Amino acid sequence: MSVLSTPARLMLRPFRGYEADFHAHTSWSDGSLSPLGIVRQASRRGLDVVSVTEHNTVMPSRVARWYTTLTDGPIVVSGEEVTTARFHIIALGIEKTVSPDQPLEAVLAAIHAQHGIAIAAHPVKHFWPELLPHRAELDGAELMHPIAYSDRSPEWRWADMVTFYEQSEVPLSAVGSSDYHWTSVLGLCRTLVFVREPATESSVLDAIREHHTVTFDLEGNAFGDRPLVEALRAEPYVPRTSDYAYRGSSTADRVLRTFGWLGLVGVFLLRARKRRE
Ligand SMILES: [Zn+2]
Ligand SMILES: [Zn+2]
Repeated sequence: MSVLSTPARLMLRPFRGYEADFHAHTSWSDGSLSPLGIVRQASRRGLDVVSVTEHNTVMPSRVARWYTTLTDGPIVVSGEEVTTARFHIIALGIEKTVSPDQPLEAVLAAIHAQHGIAIAAHPVKHFWPELLPHRAELDGAELMHPIAYSDRSPEWRWADMVTFYEQSEVPLSAVGSSDYHWTSVLGLCRTLVFVREPATESSVLDAIREHHTVTFDLEGNAFGDRPLVEALRAEPYVPRTSDYAYRGSSTADRVLRTFGWLGLVGVFLLRARKRRE
């Protein structure tokens, strides 16, 4: 069963709310899961939409998107994290890799030239010198991120991400993302994206472009599109608890489990052989 057909999804006509995580890394660089593993983990975590946003390459997200069509998994939005020492930008809905070896202005233009979406990744003070002059050219900003649980340093404080979003003179989509590598949890921070049905990669992108997003801080306060936040006050959103339909019993699960066990047996056999030599 597709996660999209599960009951009890929030309806705010003509939109429907979907849970999304638009920021995840893979073993292609410094993550632990493969692009296929991210798709499977997104299903387990009850995400309707997920983006693989690998550092400076869009290829892993295209692999994930191909895989999800085989498994009836969540909607995969193609993506990349354009990563430099001066700024990190989440590019969604792109098909070709955007080079990090250019000024931020050119990075944003390259994303928009592909009809993609540019989101400031974890816009903490460390990145403000580059980001602030170009805030009006962004489509969205991450407002929730695992650093909300504990600030990393005075230059990496969650409160500054909120300030970056709230002080923007142009509307930005409020985004909550897990920036999943391996120590955190995929879907720990989420974006509630209100999509015009039928939900597809392209209608999800349209929803972000139109700023139809909401994310919640750790106290449950909603940030994002004002009418949506008001509507959510009248009809509070209850995050998924019981509709995590994942049971790990599909053919793909069995195959991956078998490979895992074979690998473990292989390690023991190799060690036993070495001891004999
Ligand atoms: Zn980053
Ligand atoms: Zn990242």
